[in-house]
Amino acid sequence: MVVQTMTKTETANLEATMEQIEKVTEAGADVVRVAVPRDKDVEALKTIVKRSPIPVIADIHFNHTLALKAIDAGADCIRLNPGNIGGRDKVAEVAELANLKDVPMRIGVNSGSLPKHLHALEAENPTEALVTAAVEFVALMESLEFTNFKVSIKSTNVPDTIAANRLLSEKIPYPIHLGITEAGTKWSGSLKSAVGMGALLADGIGDTIRISLSTFHAEEEVKVAWEILKALKLRERGPVLIACPTCGRLQFDMDAVVAEVEQRLESYEEAIEVAVLGCAVNGIGEAKHADFGIAGARNEGVVFAHGKALKKVPTAKLVDTLFEQIDLSLDRDGEVRFDEKESAEGQAWVQKIEEENAGDLTPEKIAAMEKEAALSDEADKLLVDEKISPTAGRRFTRA
Ligand code: SF4
Repeated sequence: MVVQTMTKTETANLEATMEQIEKVTEAGADVVRVAVPRDKDVEALKTIVKRSPIPVIADIHFNHTLALKAIDAGADCIRLNPGNIGGRDKVAEVAELANLKDVPMRIGVNSGSLPKHLHALEAENPTEALVTAAVEFVALMESLEFTNFKVSIKSTNVPDTIAANRLLSEKIPYPIHLGITEAGTKWSGSLKSAVGMGALLADGIGDTIRISLSTFHAEEEVKVAWEILKALKLRERGPVLIACPTCGRLQFDMDAVVAEVEQRLESYEEAIEVAVLGCAVNGIGEAKHADFGIAGARNEGVVFAHGKALKKVPTAKLVDTLFEQIDLSLDRDGEVRFDEKESAEGQAWVQKIEEENAGDLTPEKIAAMEKEAALSDEADKLLVDEKISPTAGRRFTRA
């Protein structure tokens, strides 16, 4: 699964474009796309492809001459919409040169620019229209004996994007690039992208992804892409932070602590899982699988590793101690050493808090109880025995 992004700079502004390429590479982009709307961008492209640490895709619209020039400039891939490049002959010229130079292409269909003959179908069935356009482009490229391409169908509409890509994946054997066009700001655009792409990626559809966000900072798109891939366990990169949602039992400034932990983790490349818990009422509880974690209280808290306390420290020192322990472990190739006395003190502190709050129904305890109930014999009976169901006699009635 390849992470792609696009620079937001004027490509001809070589220094600014290179700076952004460096930043997106550092954030984890595997490939980067640059807009090439003018001859001066092609000129810059010649240097960019040499200096870029990752492959560079030239994004071309309307002008097949620029596509030819971009291939000659050394672009690693060309992004082209065969529908707006000026007819079959011009697409053929680009395909011929791309074949000769072994340069792949991404052929894309956007909901906003479907060919005229599909407009009526688009009004009736947008999914069908998008897929028909993509399949027609595929047939066109095949008729030109060019098959070194991936295909994208993009729409601002999330359900259409999901439906169209599902259908497309059944119809063509080529790699698929996923994206939600003009998804929006970092907040709403990330969510829209996670919903749309997440559904497709979970189905096993998609080979490259790009998150389109309204931000000048292209590296933010890359970070969001990685979070989606990490959430689906499709790729690993750097730490995973887990944090409780907090509730009325919270006893310290969790917002600031989580933000600090998240920010400090950005400098780590190791795929460690780090947990932040707002209290120790549940003990280490659901975070026991984490490699490291902290659970805090008003005055003190505990740093733990793999479900066992490492040490108890004042709340103000929790984050620093957590990172000291992470660093120590990484220096020892991931080995965690427990000091018996400190660990026992920490464990006793956690136990004391657990005991003091034994009667509390915390979100974690409720989840554990629900799990236990679901696995019990009673749960089986509930499914089949209408009489003991809490909804007995009330099903399907509306007062
Ligand atoms: S009870 Fe759970 S959700 Fe509430 S603060 Fe403690 S760990 Fe967080």
